[in-house]
Amino acid sequence: MQKIILKRDRERSLLRRHPWVFSGAIDKVQGAPQLGDSVSVYANDGRFLGHGAWNPVSNIRVRIWAWREDVVVDAAFFAARLAAAIAIRERLLPTAPDGGVRLVHGESDGLPGLVVDRFGEVLVMQATSAGARRWREVIADALMSLTGARALYERSDSDVLEVEGLDAASGLLRGTLADTRITCIENGLAVEVDLAHGHKTGHYLDQRENRALVGALVGALAADAEVLDAFCYSGGFALQALKAGARHVTAIDSSAAALAQVQRHLALNALPAERCTLLEDDVFKQLRKLRDQNRHFDVIVLDPPKFAPTAATAERAARGYKDINLLALKLLRPGGVLATFSCSGGVSADLFRKIVAGAAQDAGVDAQLLRQLHATPDHPIALAFPEGEYLKGLLLRVS
Ligand code: SAH
Repeated sequence: MQKIILKRDRERSLLRRHPWVFSGAIDKVQGAPQLGDSVSVYANDGRFLGHGAWNPVSNIRVRIWAWREDVVVDAAFFAARLAAAIAIRERLLPTAPDGGVRLVHGESDGLPGLVVDRFGEVLVMQATSAGARRWREVIADALMSLTGARALYERSDSDVLEVEGLDAASGLLRGTLADTRITCIENGLAVEVDLAHGHKTGHYLDQRENRALVGALVGALAADAEVLDAFCYSGGFALQALKAGARHVTAIDSSAAALAQVQRHLALNALPAERCTLLEDDVFKQLRKLRDQNRHFDVIVLDPPKFAPTAATAERAARGYKDINLLALKLLRPGGVLATFSCSGGVSADLFRKIVAGAAQDAGVDAQLLRQLHATPDHPIALAFPEGEYLKGLLLRVS
């Protein structure tokens, strides 16, 4: 048996069920575990702590699979974990057969480094840990039999792979697919998911409740609503706003491919393209241009990419968030609403709120917090794993 013995007093986070063992906490390695091998972790005094997957390259040397000593990490273990994760979604967040839902959310579902999204009858899996990669075929078989999916596509090509010592892997793993562009239905709209080239697993499912919320807000204002969707990607928020009857939507993204997808989405859903302006530009610059043109909006969405992957980069990120939020708050008409997000792991919900409060102060506007926003609950956060809370948002109204 391959054993990992921790240094004295380094077992505390594991006793709290935080599933990562950092390299600095390790005293001895017994045996010669290889990338992805199962190991058992012990405290310095010999107490069993957990079974996990070994990664000699990553700073996170072990990711814990199971806390009970009698658990065997085998095919049956993965089938049971996956079944449990899928059952939670089926019971608490039932999703139509043609809808999109996250079935597995990594550490928070007890499966470190594994993400699985379902888009209609097609599954997309991302395995970014050595352990998830080791068990990929077993996981793929279990997913197919548990869900009855038509196909399973792998998108293990995230930027974290390099620090994990893993190669990128993309492509069809199980079943058949006529096209790698598929569609699913979200909040009543058809969404094209580009399995091969889309961001992450192809579509950001975490924002779907927030998109519906923005749709409902715009619906209440209807023909009065002039909407700005900044960092629009494939148009998640912009399309909901148009569907809800917005007078006009301006959508900004720096990616031409993303804007081409917004255009396909407009056609696919027979939405009024003449009421939608697509701007291929840098949001930081475009917000200044809109300010200089004296433009104003009733609803603004700011959904930028991760500015700070880690706490170390939080300060630079904070300046970025403050800048765009300050500009957006100034572009709002009195009574206007801002839905502003951060998906930076290195920026806490608390810090994000402080940054936005500072932006409101500098913009000279009074802002009320109407709602705190989170990822849709198929992206749960294990309480023992605060890193799982990456997406946070604020719904603000200015007077
Ligand atoms: N709101 C989207 C998701 C946004 S993802 C949705 O609901 O699906 C972030 C997007 O920001 C990406 O499409 C990326 O192309 C774009 N982006 C990144 N940096 C940018 C910048 N400086 N200016 C404009 N767009 C940017």
